[in-house]
Amino acid sequence: MPAGLFTIHTFGCQMNEHDSERLAGLLREAGYEPSPAPEESDLVVVNTCSVRAKSEEKLFSLLGRLAFRKKRRAFRLAVVGCTAQIHGERIMARVPEVDYVLGPESESRLPELLSRGIGKAVALEQSAAWRESEPRTVPRASPASAYVTIMEGCDNFCTYCIVPYARGREKYRPARLVRAEVESLVRDGYKEITLLGQNVNSYRDPEGGLPFSGLLCDVGSLAAGIWLRFLTSHPKNFGSDLIAALKTVPALCRQIHLPLQSGSSRVLKTMNRGYSRDDYLGLVSSLREAMPGLELSTDVIVGFPGETEEDFVATLDVLDRVRFANIFSFRFSPRPMTAAAGREDDVPLSVKKRRLIELQALQKGIQHERNRALVGTERTVLCTGVSKKGGPFFCGRDESHRVVNFSWNGAVSPLHRFLSVRISDCGPYSLRGEGLGFSPA
Ligand code: SF4
Repeated sequence: MPAGLFTIHTFGCQMNEHDSERLAGLLREAGYEPSPAPEESDLVVVNTCSVRAKSEEKLFSLLGRLAFRKKRRAFRLAVVGCTAQIHGERIMARVPEVDYVLGPESESRLPELLSRGIGKAVALEQSAAWRESEPRTVPRASPASAYVTIMEGCDNFCTYCIVPYARGREKYRPARLVRAEVESLVRDGYKEITLLGQNVNSYRDPEGGLPFSGLLCDVGSLAAGIWLRFLTSHPKNFGSDLIAALKTVPALCRQIHLPLQSGSSRVLKTMNRGYSRDDYLGLVSSLREAMPGLELSTDVIVGFPGETEEDFVATLDVLDRVRFANIFSFRFSPRPMTAAAGREDDVPLSVKKRRLIELQALQKGIQHERNRALVGTERTVLCTGVSKKGGPFFCGRDESHRVVNFSWNGAVSPLHRFLSVRISDCGPYSLRGEGLGFSPA
């Protein structure tokens, strides 16, 4: 008889997705089982994101629905993650039906709180050192792709960003634990491993001082024959050792997410990003030299306080020069505790909206043109699922993380395997083609 049935709702980034997987593993070890239907749950966990005001609005509308459901059928309600850390008790004050509010470093305590019968708790501790809280088995969303956390927190304090407050100071996971997890994933047949952290390239092994470049080489040798990625790196932490390491790790995908945020050096300064526009463009050239065929994706914020039309045009110009394979773009929204929250949010909403539309339209054209150049070529694809179209159609990602939808007439299912796809058509956001046969990574 299980201790109870649980459901986890996850908002936000890959870190949160993986934290939810880890928490699910800990709850299972405590005798809980995933609920076949959310409304049958004895425990509902909401793993939260605070990076934009919108993600908090979504949280409170979900909590409203859960509070209403709780009137009809009792269950424990836990709010964990970044918004829990930022707002703490205020969440319970606003939604009294919430039983637990646990920050990112305290969410692993949930099974113990439940087993000790503690009805209400708020835990927001933030430590300076890594605390390993991995379950013996992590129930991962995919049998082919896995996240491996190597660090948490951030020391950069970009003026718009809430992460240093929500996730605390940088803490690095001992390299021996990272290696052990990668070894077991490779043994278990995983095809793609992503090293995860808010700032992976500032990593330093707390036990031996190994920098990220060294960890990448170590893990790379363990991940021979599969795909290795890392996320998220900071442009200012790309030293020559790391650029050199990129050349020597065959398992590394030629794909890097390199947040730009703005193309204006003046705005980058007010964002406290630690690099200029020219530094960024110079780094892009060095990375492309080190990894021929490298595809870049990025993050961009428009409408940061003080951003002029000239600054915005400078951002468009960087997109035009770098020709990213993909971007994540947002309107600036002030976040509590951040330095930018104290600045006048002087770019009118209408201007923010117009700039975002203009930027996304430019990028859409760039992506479509780049994808068109791939028509007629063969791409290695990791099949991740059945295409929405059903039938003999599947979907996957190529090395540059582009979405690829393809037909497959093979006798054996391509699910969770590498295969070669001839690209016959494309759109701005995906490629289409025909599966030719299984292939090495
Ligand atoms: S590097 Fe900047 S944007 Fe990234 S998590 Fe740290 S503070 Fe936030």
